[in-house]
Amino acid sequence: MVKKFTLSTNSKTEFIEITPQVERIVKESGVKEGICWVFAPHTTAGITINEGADPSVRQDILNQLTRIVPFRGNYLHLEGNSPAHIKSSIIGVSEAIIIERGKLVLGTWQSLYFCEFDGPRHRQVIVKVQQ
Ligand code: ZN
Repeated sequence: MVKKFTLSTNSKTEFIEITPQVERIVKESGVKEGICWVFAPHTTAGITINEGADPSVRQDILNQLTRIVPFRGNYLHLEGNSPAHIKSSIIGVSEAIIIERGKLVLGTWQSLYFCEFDGPRHRQVIVKVQQ
């Protein structure tokens, strides 16, 4: 089964935790053992798994991505959002998470994030739960 949900981002760049929404979809699917695919159908956003306890980690990741890919540079893309496209490709737009006993298998400190690189915007997340 495939489910979608939307979210609104508030900043130009930010990580938004989506673990609860994805866990709910897994629970509703009834799948006990399988794989959950999480996909962002966007070219200026990403999906990642990282530390959920300390929000400084998210900010450090965003800061260092911006150091690697500055907002201003010698970019050719006329829309002006090349840094967001490049960050999307660095982070990637999907994750696959194992489902065991009806739950996502995540480490103690891991959370699932939608990564906005060209906000604020309305965004979509697609989730496939596979047995
Ligand atoms: Zn663009």
